[in-house]
Amino acid sequence: MIPSQPTIDELRALQLARLRAGLKDVLRSNAFWRARLTEVQGWDDFERLPLTTKSDLVTDQAAKPPFGTNLTYPIDRYIRLHQTSGASGDHPLRWLDTPESWEWWLRIWSDHVYRAAGVTASDRVFFAFSFGPFIGFWTAFGSAEKLGALAISGAAMTTEQRIRSILELGATVLLSTPTYALRMAEAAKDIGKDLTTSQLRVTIHAGEPGASIPTTRAAIEAAYTATSFDHSGMTELGPTGHSCAQRDGIHVLESDFIIEVLDENGRPASEGELVATNLGRWGMPLIRYRTGDRVSITREPCSCGSPFPKLVGGIRGRIDDMFTVRGVNLYPSQVEDIVRGHPNVVEFVIEHRHLHHMDEVTLLVEIEGTNTSTERLEADLRQALGVRLGCRVVPTGTLPQSDLKSKRLVRKVD
Ligand SMILES: [Zn+2]
Repeated sequence: MIPSQPTIDELRALQLARLRAGLKDVLRSNAFWRARLTEVQGWDDFERLPLTTKSDLVTDQAAKPPFGTNLTYPIDRYIRLHQTSGASGDHPLRWLDTPESWEWWLRIWSDHVYRAAGVTASDRVFFAFSFGPFIGFWTAFGSAEKLGALAISGAAMTTEQRIRSILELGATVLLSTPTYALRMAEAAKDIGKDLTTSQLRVTIHAGEPGASIPTTRAAIEAAYTATSFDHSGMTELGPTGHSCAQRDGIHVLESDFIIEVLDENGRPASEGELVATNLGRWGMPLIRYRTGDRVSITREPCSCGSPFPKLVGGIRGRIDDMFTVRGVNLYPSQVEDIVRGHPNVVEFVIEHRHLHHMDEVTLLVEIEGTNTSTERLEADLRQALGVRLGCRVVPTGTLPQSDLKSKRLVRKVD
């Protein structure tokens, strides 16, 4: 257990003790980590361990299909297989869990994510999610069931069927991506249903940073008259954090992860890339894993009483999703914060074209209603971002839709 307010040294000592205990099996039988790791005594040893990237894992799985060499136990010990969504066009990574690591993941949902959102055994939890091989909300589903709540799958349903189920079954908690929550609210209007009259009081979102983006969260909360929470996690890493009652960021769970934020030179920083080591998934662990997520971290106490540091504003975006307009570096979440303040914009994509050695960035928008002027949106973007970002209206239904992660930045080379 982590004391309520440990010093950083106490915290590191607890984390390293847990890491050393877990590494015993790993260093004995896991070929991937045996080739990369040495014994870890103190924090200095830990900081000298190499960083691991997704491409290291993809390369390993490609060389030793289908699961690669990051396996601590014989294959019979594993009970679950999931894979990354491949939403960013990467090769999907396959990931295996043992009964113990699956339990670890379910416990984090019940002890931290659901607890922070006030979800209890009396709730009816609806999952607007497809439940394919992507890990998505599988652990959230299992954990809701263990909590004693009623877990309702919305898999293999149309958006309309999901809306009707939420209303008819009296669902009190919704889990979905933020974008899908907004799309479902739009679709409800089209079929004459009003989701503000539903029993939903809490929504929990993952897969995209939306629930930590103020205007996106406000739009979801208005559409459902519910309180919206954010959750961060990755198939290959596990559930790293969740937002609290303050809802101005994500607490990262130092009870179950060693959390580092590193600048571009790999030095500890308050702003940079989130690097995480899981402490409960020894069958297929990740040590000093570069998440590719851009974050800003604070250890200032939070009014919710959480002992954990906070990623201010949640996950700000992907490190490699940065784009440049007239010399100004921007991230899709900054654009989303403005776009969601315009409820008539139902879908958007930032298109980055590299054209005759020139970069051209255009915001493609789907607009509902008869007034399709983008003048006010362009003015708001210019004011907030400090540069002019051109908008182009595209017909409704043109932009890709998904109940998994939405890709907001599309790069094209002509
Ligand atoms: Zn808090």
